[in-house]
Amino acid sequence: MPITITKVCQWCGASMETTRSSKRLCSARCHQAFHRWRQSILPGASPKDGFKLIQDWMAGNSHPNSNHPVNKLHESLSDFCKAATEVVTQNTNQLKSTIAVEQSQPEGIL
Ligand SMILES: [Zn+2]
Repeated sequence: MPITITKVCQWCGASMETTRSSKRLCSARCHQAFHRWRQSILPGASPKDGFKLIQDWMAGNSHPNSNHPVNKLHESLSDFCKAATEVVTQNTNQLKSTIAVEQSQPEGIL
């Protein structure tokens, strides 16, 4: 009986059950997308070259497939940073106006 292993699709990042250790893509759709991408940037390149290039992208925490989870992670991180910056800016402005009010009070009132 063949041993089933869990691998991650190199194109979409989905996990997949397979009996082939060499399997790298989960579906015909991913095969096609990977093939198109490879031919568009490295015409005539072998799949091996394409996977090597994906590894380079992944080393930089990115992926040529915009729907890959690693890219989604960047989006949520950047949304989070924007929201956090917004809160800090609001608090800073509030603090600045409080300080301004206190400084404009005449001597002896506080
Ligand atoms: Zn896939």
